[in-house]
Amino acid sequence: MKNKKYNAETERLMDLMINSIYTNKEIFLRELISNASDAMDKMYYIALNDDNVKFNHEDYYIRITPDKEKRTITIEDNGVGMTEDELVENLGTIAKSGSLDFKKLNEKNEEHEIIGQFGVGFYSAFMVADEISVLTRSYKEDEAHIWKSKGAKGYTIESGKKDSHGTIITLHLKENSKDEDYDKYLDEYKIRELVSHYSNYISYPIKMEVEKKRPAADSTEDDPKFESYREDDILNSSVPMWRKNKNELKEDDYNNFFRQRHFGFEDPLAHIHISVEGVISFKAILYIPSRRPFDFLNPDRKGGLELYSNGVLIMEKCEDLLPDYLSFVKGVVDSEDISLNISREMLQKTRELQLIKKNIEKKILEELAKILKNDREKYAQFFENFGISLKSGAYENYGADKDKLKDLFIYTTTKRENITFNEYRKDMAPDQECIYYANGNSIESVKKLPQIKHFMEENIEVLALTDPIDEFVIKMLEEYDDKKFKSISETDATKEEDEKNLDDYLRKMKDLLSGEVSSIRENPNLKDDAAYLSSKGEISIEMEKTLSHMPN
Ligand code: ADP
Ligand code: MG
Repeated sequence: MKNKKYNAETERLMDLMINSIYTNKEIFLRELISNASDAMDKMYYIALNDDNVKFNHEDYYIRITPDKEKRTITIEDNGVGMTEDELVENLGTIAKSGSLDFKKLNEKNEEHEIIGQFGVGFYSAFMVADEISVLTRSYKEDEAHIWKSKGAKGYTIESGKKDSHGTIITLHLKENSKDEDYDKYLDEYKIRELVSHYSNYISYPIKMEVEKKRPAADSTEDDPKFESYREDDILNSSVPMWRKNKNELKEDDYNNFFRQRHFGFEDPLAHIHISVEGVISFKAILYIPSRRPFDFLNPDRKGGLELYSNGVLIMEKCEDLLPDYLSFVKGVVDSEDISLNISREMLQKTRELQLIKKNIEKKILEELAKILKNDREKYAQFFENFGISLKSGAYENYGADKDKLKDLFIYTTTKRENITFNEYRKDMAPDQECIYYANGNSIESVKKLPQIKHFMEENIEVLALTDPIDEFVIKMLEEYDDKKFKSISETDATKEEDEKNLDDYLRKMKDLLSGEVSSIRENPNLKDDAAYLSSKGEISIEMEKTLSHMPN
């Protein structure tokens, strides 16, 4: 047996790692499963270049075995295994990633999907274990080796026996303390939960032998008897939905996935399945929910998409994948091209991430445009829920694609419902110079405005802006297709001059209301009503009211 000490630097790093890199102890299982999966992927790449090595995907699997008596959990794979030198190299030096070296060696091979690259994942097991032993046999040799360590002090290596290549890692769990229950990692349901949460889409089956019950041979209907037996269960679902071909999937599959991932209880309004290959490659399944989430208006609500890298869950709510105004969209994104930080729990904000985000935004807007065109009723339902988000996108000006956004707005007008600017514009009379709008709480109150009668009589369509944000958006857009937006409360500038010619009547009114109003103008458009109030400045009275209610 050989005793080795970690060098001082490794020892310090290890302490830091175990105690501060990871926020969550349970990720140890994700890391060990990822390593096992990497080790089997390596067999595949080696087989590509070496005729003596055969690779048959069906023969490869990961096995998890908890042992309640011994308080151990074992993770086994039949991947490449490690020679003694490799053990020292990979597990004897912290931040030494055999997987990164392997990737570099195979740089030309574009396809590799190996997850590891930091060389720290393995040590995360020391968060839950007080002793780890690794029995491994490299595919290159017949000898096996056992690596053992109790943590920061060092490790031992001795020779061992193993029938075929691969690695068996056994963790002896720490004693339960009042802060942490380590026994839970021996529980079948906990293991199932962890695998399906973090490692559901690892491309090899993850097996565990579990106890099951079946009717006994002497069981009858009147006297039912059951016997226990043990059988392997596969804990993961290996082919992720998003890697499947769109043609293989039905509406139902997408809807089930939506519920399975707890995106919502009801069927979504629409789904978008994206598969992009190129400068950046990623796959995604996105959903537009049919309802607002209950906390939609809560400013602290966290939106975001689930992010996977190569089938391994990295973040549950990644906000950097969606522009704020689309944060109501749910779904998953999987990309092998993103850069993760050392604990894989955070992303690095890179150009790749930006590219994915832009691409996703574009696809969502395209999908919305499609629904708008093909199913106005469905779109109206969407807009009722999330129109305000799109409007805030146009208004907030953070690089959102306003040209596309403005064509996604629908309004009620004095003539019809759910009308786009484009449709309004197309139906304008040739001599109509502006796109007219009016503000109010509802279409009914807009129709009661004194200044609207003129427009109704002249058969000029007026957009009803019933949402406080509408006027901000209209002010921001200024015009649509060369036609300016104009409030029906605005009188033309030339009328200002007429003030000089105010007749006695108006002068008298002005005297009476002096101090109350800043000016009084004649409006020849008024029909049955004598007067209306409007604001002096750029914005409507309605908007002034809104602003005066807003916290500063
Ligand atoms: P990373 O996976 O980021 O490279 P880890 O700390 O998780 O870092 O693992 C360190 C190295 O140990 C790996 O790169 C790999 O070379 C080796 N290794 C770990 N687990 C296994 C395994 N199950 N089979 C073969 N090699 C392994
Ligand atoms: Mg790893």
